[in-house]
Amino acid sequence: MLSVEGVSKSFGSVHVLEDITFSVPRAATLVLLGPSGCGKTTLLRLIAGLERPDKGEIWRGEDLLSGDGTYVDVRHRRIGMVFQDLALFPHMTVFKNVAYGLPPGQRRNREIRDKEVAEAIALVNLEGLEHRRPHQLSGGQQQRVALARALVPRPEVILFDEPFASLDTSLRIEVRSEVHELLHALGTTAVFVTHDQEEAFVIGEEVVVMKDRRIVQHDRPSVLYRRPVSPWVGLFVGHANMLPATVQGATARTSIGDIDLLADVASGSAADASGSASEGDSVNVLVRPEHLQLLGDGLGGGSNGSGISARVELVEYHGHDTMYAVKLAEDGTMLKVLVPGSSPQFDHGADVALHYIGPPTTAFPAETG
Ligand code: ATP
Repeated sequence: MLSVEGVSKSFGSVHVLEDITFSVPRAATLVLLGPSGCGKTTLLRLIAGLERPDKGEIWRGEDLLSGDGTYVDVRHRRIGMVFQDLALFPHMTVFKNVAYGLPPGQRRNREIRDKEVAEAIALVNLEGLEHRRPHQLSGGQQQRVALARALVPRPEVILFDEPFASLDTSLRIEVRSEVHELLHALGTTAVFVTHDQEEAFVIGEEVVVMKDRRIVQHDRPSVLYRRPVSPWVGLFVGHANMLPATVQGATARTSIGDIDLLADVASGSAADASGSASEGDSVNVLVRPEHLQLLGDGLGGGSNGSGISARVELVEYHGHDTMYAVKLAEDGTMLKVLVPGSSPQFDHGADVALHYIGPPTTAFPAETG
């Protein structure tokens, strides 16, 4: 539905995007995820037609939008936009703000305008608030006005740039779910920019991870989480321990015991940096905190039976689970361990026994960053 092919962009001597290629299937939501300054917003502006690429092409279905001498104006791209600052007109009512999203021809035809605007307002559940002005609405309602305005011309693609950044946590989660559900119900193709990994995983069927002007990985969220292409991606998309190890057959020999490697990692058949592990190699093994288990007697611990001896150094209680930092008795290695459940099981200073309980995992050559 939307393809970006070999796109590069500089502002003067500042290279902002380098050879970006990806495509979004029809009706899918793709998330651009990356740290501040990696070029996400610029990429969105290129797709929207607010900037011109220096190199490469942008296609919407069969239509070339940018590149090869072509440049379709922003108003004719049939691409909707919802940006962080919303850009609602403060002096206009909700109705007029939404109507502003229609092309001028439709806006002037009262019958069409009233019908389309009413439909868009109903879609985002703002009926009854048509005559209010933005300052008379909550942050979440303003967000929905911006969404209705973007949806009213029935765009084939809709772009979101950190649209929930200004909302507080609980509202953000609520509005995010609404938008997610709506995009799904309408079957709209969407590209969504965020630097928040959790948001990317919730919203995105596919996630493109960007770093320093380039794409570093494009996968489904579950693949990104289990099989990141580098330690950097592994750490960017969640909490992670990187344990030094030596490859031995299909396992990695670590200070907490042997951990099975994913079959393609162990055979060295994967094409990326994480797939070159062969016998005797020094690697770092990705160990997610929820794949470690702590055993001990009560809050004070006291290791009983098998397991690797460790001591609890930090307890971070989250309500639905608790993150511990534990120090291995043998070599002082610090590891994060996530334990589910609504009451913490160990106190600071508790002696515990640690076990790996996760599935086969991935490993990276020791020197990769
Ligand atoms: P953030 O999450 O902070 O919004 P981002 O990943 O969206 O970051 P961009 O806003 O695309 O990043 O900016 C990427 C780089 O391009 C930054 O270094 C920024 O300063 C630079 N940049 C963006 N727009 C311009 C411009 N018009 N002129 C010069 N430099 C620009």
